[in-house]
Amino acid sequence: MPSTSSSPFRESYTLEIGSGQTGSSNGERTPVYNPSTAEVLTEVPAGTADDLDRAVTTASEAFEEWRLVTPKERSRLLLKVAERITEAEDRLARIETLENGRPLVDARGQVQRCARHFEYYAGIADKVQGTEIPLDEDHVNYTVKEPLGVTGHIVPWNVPIYLFARSVAPALAAGNTVVVKPPNLAPVGGLEVGYILNEVLPDGVVNIVTGSGSVVGDAMSKHPDVESITFTGSGSTGVKVGQNAASAISDVVLELGGKSPLVVYPDVDIDRAVTEVIRGIFTGAGQICSASSRALVHEEIHDRFVEQLVEQVKAFTIGPGIENPDMGPLISESHLEDVLEYIELGREEVGDPVTGGERIDRTGYFLRPTVFNNVPNESRIAQEEIFGPVLTVTTFSDEGEAIELANDVEYGLAAGVMTDDVGKAHRFAKEVKAGQIYVNEWFAGGNETPFGGFKQSGVGRDNGTQAIENFTQIKNVCVNISYR
Ligand code: NAD
Repeated sequence: MPSTSSSPFRESYTLEIGSGQTGSSNGERTPVYNPSTAEVLTEVPAGTADDLDRAVTTASEAFEEWRLVTPKERSRLLLKVAERITEAEDRLARIETLENGRPLVDARGQVQRCARHFEYYAGIADKVQGTEIPLDEDHVNYTVKEPLGVTGHIVPWNVPIYLFARSVAPALAAGNTVVVKPPNLAPVGGLEVGYILNEVLPDGVVNIVTGSGSVVGDAMSKHPDVESITFTGSGSTGVKVGQNAASAISDVVLELGGKSPLVVYPDVDIDRAVTEVIRGIFTGAGQICSASSRALVHEEIHDRFVEQLVEQVKAFTIGPGIENPDMGPLISESHLEDVLEYIELGREEVGDPVTGGERIDRTGYFLRPTVFNNVPNESRIAQEEIFGPVLTVTTFSDEGEAIELANDVEYGLAAGVMTDDVGKAHRFAKEVKAGQIYVNEWFAGGNETPFGGFKQSGVGRDNGTQAIENFTQIKNVCVNISYR
């Protein structure tokens, strides 16, 4: 039961393996820190490869029952999950704020997205249909979409509650059972959503093993009875997960990093453009895969754009997420140090930032939002994912150059354009190699719209109706009807 004190955390956390809520097999636990204060919030079990194996066995057994539950019943159950998540919004949002650092208002939005995700896939659970294939007089041929069995889900810390739901909801809707590894740095939100799922769904359908990626994630991605892995995280880990999945002949969806451009044409209202760039890069303190980390601004408006941008960024309130500032902390000391290293690199490559660049002198992992101006696109700070509140601004002179710069990175997750010229917007959408094209609004779209990366940003798509394909396999049935 949730703690009755003002803390949103429970008195203790367990692994979720079937109906048995247990500690890890070796009894070890991992502390969970509040990035705003560096204090320990709670502890979760440090799962082992044995725990993961137990979770997979439990999920395999539960699959034999779950696959027989009718689609309409699955749909009703998932709708109930969505309702319970909505009822728990306040507590879940506070948990996300405390363990991840994002402002409370933003955390509420993520919990709402999580609930909406279960609602959306509840609406699809009873519409997963096959096709009839016309052959000849003597045969009836049709396909059925069947669930895979046990699916594995590895979640990052940057949006821990919504990203838990992003692949788990369609996997369950399609009739699979799941084993989930929440992120080590912010594991509680996922565990809490898992507890809600387990109040509603039969035992063993949802199993959660907290613990380190190199132990639990590694064991999951190479497990022969895990039929697919959905991994969301960094490219370097994604390669390891992909290699493991290949050795186990498992399907894989990889949702990886980005270095996404936002092109600003001079025909657009500058206030609007500045607002979108700020929202795109500083939401979640820049720790968002689809952050607009590169602003590509037409030379005609560049000076005015940078002046307005810097003025607004300097006025940011920064503090613990629970106080609802404009921007919260980074997730950890070591991540803050990595981002500060990039800022030092930026000073060497292009000189001092026009604003920000320093750690804030207080407890917690706070960094001033940082803007580097006149950044050549070939510099490392414009090419590599920093995953922090660091924006680079680069100028362009014509449409051809804007599109060339937008494409000139190894990533292809998102790309945006601000313009009132519909032709320019559509040419941008056609020419830029990215999974999401945002026109006049960064982070446009939602649970219903496919999300995923071109190039080094990943393999496969989450969200929307098509995510069901990640969790079903096609069986073809061919019947000879000529015998009498
Ligand atoms: P990460 O790769 O360090 O960790 C991601 C998850 O993988 C965590 O649960 C971690 O414990 C686990 N893991 C670590 N080592 C593992 C291993 N050897 N085998 C299996 N699992 C392992 O990434 P992170 O720092 O948590 O997240 C930040 C990255 O995630 C950024 O690159 C960001 O762009 C990316 N991301 C992408 C999306 C997307 O939808 N494309 C969304 C959010 C974050």
